[in-house]
This record gives sequence, C-alpha cells and structure tokens, in this order.
Amino acid sequence: MSTPPVLSCPLPPGATIGILGGGQLGRMLALAAARLGLKAHIYSDEATAPAFQIAPAHTCARYDDTQALERFAASCNVVTFEFENLPEATLRFLAERVPVAPNPRALSVAQDRFLEKSFVADLGIATAPFKSVASAAQAKEAFTVLGGPCVIKTRRLGYDGKGQRKIVSEDEAANAFAALGAVPAIVEKFIDFSFEASVLAARGRDGAFAAFDPPKNEHEHHILRRSTVPAPLSEAKVREAVRIVRTIAEALDYVGVIAVELFVPREGDLIVNEVAPRVHNSGHWTIEACVTSQFEQHIRAVAGWPLGDPTRHSDAVMENIIGAEVNKWLEYAGRKEGLHLYGKAEAHNGRKMGHITRIAPKGTWQS
Ligand code: AMP
Repeated sequence: MSTPPVLSCPLPPGATIGILGGGQLGRMLALAAARLGLKAHIYSDEATAPAFQIAPAHTCARYDDTQALERFAASCNVVTFEFENLPEATLRFLAERVPVAPNPRALSVAQDRFLEKSFVADLGIATAPFKSVASAAQAKEAFTVLGGPCVIKTRRLGYDGKGQRKIVSEDEAANAFAALGAVPAIVEKFIDFSFEASVLAARGRDGAFAAFDPPKNEHEHHILRRSTVPAPLSEAKVREAVRIVRTIAEALDYVGVIAVELFVPREGDLIVNEVAPRVHNSGHWTIEACVTSQFEQHIRAVAGWPLGDPTRHSDAVMENIIGAEVNKWLEYAGRKEGLHLYGKAEAHNGRKMGHITRIAPKGTWQS
C-alpha cells in the first residue's frame, strides 16, 4: 500500500481546503477560510447545501461517487470534514490521494459509540458504565447488570437524541432495542448529572495544542438550546476538562478542532459522553468572544498554520435559532447581538436555522 500524502509545509494563501459536508459548520468553516485568504471547495450530496451559497467551488455528488471524489481530491490541497456520519470509505479513498485531517481513524472511533466509549475508557477517562448489545436478550441482561435506569443508543448514526431511549425496566430494554431497529447498540447507565458541558480544543500538525474555555450546555428536546461561558466550573474542573480533550486528541494523533461532550456530576470526575471529530455547535460563541474562533482555528490546523489565540475576551451566551423561530429574524436583527443565519430555505421542526450570541465584558457573568 502506498504511503498516504501528508502536508509537508503550511498551505499558502490561495490554496484550497476541501470540506466534506455542506451544512452550517461547513459554511462557517468556508467563511473562516476566506478571511485567511484560503479557498473552500464544498462537497455535499444535497443540492441545497447552505455552504454552497458562499464557497467559491462546490461539488454536488454522492459520497460513494469515486469519479467525483477523484476530481475533488485533485482540486484540493487538503481535505477536512464537518460531520461524522460520513462513510469512512469516502475518507479513506480521499486520504490515498490528498492529505486529510482529522485522520480517518478519528472519524471511525467517533462514528461508533461502542468503539468511542471503549477508546475513552481505555485512556483512563470516566464514561458512563456501558455494554455493547446485539439482541433484545442482551439488552435486558445489560440493563440488569448495569442496574438501571439506563439509556440505550444505537452504535452508529445517532445525533440530537435520535437513535436513543431512556429505559427503566428490563422489558423496556428489550422493547427499546426492537424499536431502535434491532441494530447493534450500547446500553449505558443513566447519569444523574448536575449539568452538561463541553470542551473544544485544536491540535496542530506539529502537536501544538490550544483549548477554549468549556461552556455549559443546555438542551431542549435533545437539541442544544444554549451554550454559556464561563460555565460554573472550578479552575480544577476546567483543568480536568482540558486534560481530557488533550489526552484524547494526542491518542488519536489528531489534527484540527475536536469537541468532547461532558456530564458534570454533583461530585467526582467529569464523565465523557461523546467525542465529535469536528467543530461543534457548543463552540459557536468563540466567533464573537475569542481572538480566534473555533472555525479559524480548525482551518489553521488543517492548513498547517500556527494555531491562533483561543483566549476568551468576553463572557458569552449563544442561543440556537431552531425551526420556525427563524421567522423572527427581524426581531433578532434588532438585538445588536452576533446574528448568524445559515441560508436554509425550509424551517423544519427542530432544524438549526441560525444562532445568536450575546457578549459582555469578561467577568460580568462570573459563575
Ligand atoms: P448523545 O446523543 O449521546 O449526545 O445524548 C444526547 C443527550 O441525551 C445528552 O446530551 C444528554 O442530555 C442525554 N444523555 C445521553 N446519555 C445519557 C446518560 N447516560 N445519562 C443521562 N443522560 C444522557
């Protein structure tokens, strides 16, 4: 097998960053690239991908269209991705032709909840106790062994609470396994956390590391509603969060921005819920409140540039604009806050249509 291409030097302005996925994350990555004089080429299988509207180049094709992927690879100096439900084969195909960051292994670990939780636990980092299950009988047994209540989640393709159920009895465990499609799943113990947080950081090609302050995250109907910085975490807990993301990033030989979702228990160690090998919704506030945003930081990392300064100069609250809420765009526009609309034509229920960030001088909302 030939050696995969690696970026040997920083990409100069004018170079092209390929981005797999054309949602709001791809759009904001492309905007950040443009600010640095770099060009984005967006690849998506959706004709109305919001990132197509603002990128200088785009390809609309299936993720298994090898001819389109071949042309895409030839047109890019480096390739990255903005969502993790991407076929791993797509990334491996590209990685043989063009430098890819983050690496395909990071994607495959994050795509499968069992591999992901096992990987994190093997690093000595706390997770909810979990078991992989492949039948209704195993789901029942896992519930008994773990000592419910529990949550059952499909191993693959879950997001925003899709593909998961809370279970409070053995019978429910078996029924939920069937209701989720009788596909490979994990059963994990339900955690009675104090609140949810996340920690985002970037790792450069030279191993440089830079973390953002961890936000507190609040969800409604399993969708992120609000991220607030600073989170009500002690300095020791912030250090613990940063140590966790650094340990994971280094173990994956990661390049780019990585996000780790955390449960903050009433006492004891932080618990890792999920690893996202990409920029993350809970990091959008960095655009207004940090010297370098998560999007610019990701572009810098994958382009082989020095990482920027993640220092937070303001307190911030980011709220998602979800579904029909976007119809109040004029009211949002009048608030004199950081408004971002994603250019999506249809406001389905639960669809992230934009976000708005309010900032105040650092220390104003000190927890
Ligand atoms: P996930 O898809 O794993 O990110 O889970 C979505 C949301 O479900 C999380 O943000 C939590 O609010 C909740 N959740 C997931 N797993 C657990 C758990 N083991 N215990 C308690 N709540 C959970």
